Amino acid sequence: MKKPSRNNSLSIATRAIHGNKLYPYKGPVALPIYQTSTYRFESSDDAIRYAKGDDSVMVYTRYHNPTVNEVQERLALIEGAESAVLFASGMAAITTAILAVTKTGEEIVSTPALYGGAYRFFRDELPKLNIHVKYVDPDHLSSLLKLITPKTSVVYFETPTNPTLNIVDIAELVKYARQAEKKTGRKLYIMIDNTFASILNQDPLALGVDVILESATKYLGGHSDIMSGVVLGAKDFIKKVKTGMKYYGGCADPMAAYLLYRSLKTFELRVQRQNENAMALARALEKNKRVNRVLYPGLPSHPKHHIAKKQMSGFGGMVTIEVKPSKKLLPVEAAAKVCDNLRVAINAMSLGGAETLVSIPVYSSHIFMSDAELKKHGVTPGMIRISVGVEGINDLIADFEQALTLI
Ligand code: PLP
Repeated sequence: MKKPSRNNSLSIATRAIHGNKLYPYKGPVALPIYQTSTYRFESSDDAIRYAKGDDSVMVYTRYHNPTVNEVQERLALIEGAESAVLFASGMAAITTAILAVTKTGEEIVSTPALYGGAYRFFRDELPKLNIHVKYVDPDHLSSLLKLITPKTSVVYFETPTNPTLNIVDIAELVKYARQAEKKTGRKLYIMIDNTFASILNQDPLALGVDVILESATKYLGGHSDIMSGVVLGAKDFIKKVKTGMKYYGGCADPMAAYLLYRSLKTFELRVQRQNENAMALARALEKNKRVNRVLYPGLPSHPKHHIAKKQMSGFGGMVTIEVKPSKKLLPVEAAAKVCDNLRVAINAMSLGGAETLVSIPVYSSHIFMSDAELKKHGVTPGMIRISVGVEGINDLIADFEQALTLI
C-alpha cells in the first residue's frame, strides 16, 4: 500500500494508532522491543554488504534499530513529514539538527524568546565553534531581510514561546525568510521547536517551515516517564541529521522509543483534553483577584490572539500566570507559596504529561540568565508556568483557587 503523503486525509488519531498499516497482515498488534545494542550477521558477507552501503543490513543500535525505525516512521506520518529521526532527548534533537547544517563561521537567526536550554546552547556553546546567533524581534519580522546573509544556515524559532506564550506569526516569518533566501541564493533551513503546540494544534510544515524539532519528552510522550526528541523534515535533510546523530551519539533507546509509540495511541485524546482544561483554567484564573496576568493564546485578552487563531487549531495545554505580590511577599516568594500549597498540581519541572505540573521560570527554564536577558525573554519573577494535565477541571480550578488565597 502506498504510504500516505503529507496531505493525508486520515485523522492524526488514526495515523497515530495504525500508522500506514491499513491492510491485513500477520503479526503482533503491539510493537516488539528490539532491546539489543548489536545484530548478529549470518556471515561476513552481511558486514561486507553494509560496508558497501547497503543500509538494509542492521549492524549497531546507534545507527538503526527496528523499534526506533518504526516509531520514526509513525512520527513522520503523524506530522506530515517525509522523514524523521528520533533522539535521546529534545536537546539532542535540537543541537544535532543545527550542527548537521551549520559550519564554523556561519550564522543562525533566531527569535529571542526560546526554551532556556536552546538559548543557553546558542549563547554559551555555539560561539566556541565560531557560530553566532543574531536575534530578530518577532514584532518586526521584516528585519529578517537585513539579518539573513549568505552566512546564515538556519532561521530558528518557537511559537508559542516558553514560558510567556507569545505568538510568532509563522506565515510572516516564512515569507521574509524565503525572500531573503532568494536574495542570498543560499538554502536556508527554517526550523521550529513545535514542542509547546504539538502537531495536534499547529502544522508548521503546511505553513512552509522546513524542519520540526520537538521534545518528545513532553506532549508526544505525555506521561512524564521518558526522555526523547525528534527531528522531522525532508529526506535529504534527515539523512544529514542521521549522520550527525552517529557522531554526536544522541540516539534513541529502544525502550524509550517503545514507550513513545505506546503514548502516541492516546496523543489526540490527551492533547484535546489538555486544550479544554487549559482554556477553562485560564478563564477561571483571569477572574481571580490574586492574579495579575494570565497568558494563554486562547484568551481574547492575549495580545496575539488573532495570530494564534489564524495558525493554531487548538491553543495548547500551557498557561502562564503572574501572581500579584502582597505586602509581605516579594513576587517570587508569592509564586513559590502558591506552588508549595497546590495539592492536585505537582511542583515539578517539565510539561506535557497527564498530570498538571507547575514551575517558576526564573528558577527552572530561565535559570542562569541575567536581569537583562530575563527582560528580553519577558520573564518576570512572579510567573508560574502551568502545564495543564488531564485531571478533572473542577478539581484543578479549586486547587489553584485555594493556593492563591494564601498570598
Ligand atoms: N524545547 C522546549 C520548548 C522545551 O520545553 C524543552 C524542555 O523543557 C526542550 C526543548 C528540551 O527537551 P528535552 O528536555 O527533552 O531535552
